Formats: sequence, C-alpha cells, structure tokens
Amino acid sequence: MLGLDLDGVIYEIAAPICHVASEMTGRQVVKDDITKYGLTECLGLTEVEVKDLIFKCQEDHWLRSELIIPGTRRFLNEFGQNYPVVVITARPDAVATKEFLCQELTVEPEQILVFSARSREKGKLASKLGLTHFVDDHFVSLTAMMQVGIKPILFDQPWNQLLPAPQSRTWQLVDRIKNLNELWRFIDV
Ligand SMILES: [Mg+2]
Repeated sequence: MLGLDLDGVIYEIAAPICHVASEMTGRQVVKDDITKYGLTECLGLTEVEVKDLIFKCQEDHWLRSELIIPGTRRFLNEFGQNYPVVVITARPDAVATKEFLCQELTVEPEQILVFSARSREKGKLASKLGLTHFVDDHFVSLTAMMQVGIKPILFDQPWNQLLPAPQSRTWQLVDRIKNLNELWRFIDV
C-alpha cells in the first residue's frame, strides 16, 4: 500500500514559500533558489524567520486549487478508485488538509486518510498503517521509511538534488520521480 507526503509532492509548497520569503527579504525569491530543505542556509534567513515563514505558508488560505502539483490530481483520482489515498504530512492540522483534498479530488472522502507526523516519526506511523511504499521530497522522512523496511520514492525537487553525503550512494539508488503518474509501475493493478 502506497503513502504520500503532502508538501512538495501533492501540494506546491514552493509557491507560498517564494511569496512569503520575497516579502520577508525584499528580493524576488524563486523556486530554484530553494536548493536545500533547510531554508536558513539557502535563503539566508534566521531560524526564527524560517519558523515564521513556515507558519505563514501553512495558513489555510494558501490551500488553493491552482497549487496542486500538475499531474497529481489525475493520478490520485484514478488511484483512489481502487486504493485508499494515504497522506502523512508534517503539518500539524490534518483536518484542514483532509478537507482540502476532499474538495480537490473526486475520490470518496472515506478513501482519503490524512495523518500528521513529524518527518522523523513518519516511518513508525507508516509501518503501523501497513504501507509498503512512500513518496516524499525530504530525505529525513524517507530515511525513516527505510529504517522500517518501507520502499522510499523520492519526489524530485530543487531542494533534493544534493544528496546527503554519508549515504549518497544509497540515495543514488533510490527511485526518483518527477510526476505521480510514474507511480503506476510500482502498483499492482
Ligand atoms: Mg514534503
């Protein structure tokens, strides 16, 4: 059974990040500027500023139809006909995320399951849920998946091009996708 992350996989989190970061820094921030998951390093912000930025980016008004990543809606609508759509997000508010997905997808609401867990704890939860594959844009979440024997699938983003040095060989071998429609090859249909 497949599970997915929300931000950077289903939802274009880079859009609010760029908007809010541009306001905060007074210079135009674009998606390709986000070369690392750690925003302090790539955007030159303090930790307090990054916390504030993430908080602003997770406000409900940013959950907009046009910020669903292209290809995602089509895949999830088709996939959700036969399988539950399981989302594990680090966002604290799983309810708002579920409401958003229910609005955006044609999948039956009871087939959409949204859970909230910090990146490092996603593996334990995914294991409990019986997931076999997990798609995420963050090395930390996927490391947690590998530790519990769940197949990691990396969703390609500018912030995951540089592979973590100690296990860069391992990361080279991890499947990387640019569009959720590439997931069909992992699914028995
Ligand atoms: Mg993410």
